[in-house]
Amino acid sequence: MTAMNAIMCLQCGIEMNYHAEKIDYMAALDDPTAIDPDLGGVVEEIHTCPGCGNIETRRAASDVSFTKNVSN
Ligand SMILES: [Zn+2]
Repeated sequence: MTAMNAIMCLQCGIEMNYHAEKIDYMAALDDPTAIDPDLGGVVEEIHTCPGCGNIETRRAASDVSFTKNVSN
């Protein structure tokens, strides 16, 4: 079973490990619609690749709302 949050490494194509999440206040300035009102910034997931050490980030909020639409 593949974790719903998994993303693939752009460098070597294997599944990356979810590492952490952070609040990006600079991204909030760039795209105010993505702000989490409880946190005052944009929530980003940090994923690391076990193969090559590559680090990718993506926004968490937009994926959550998309998943809700699909499952209903
Ligand atoms: Zn990699």
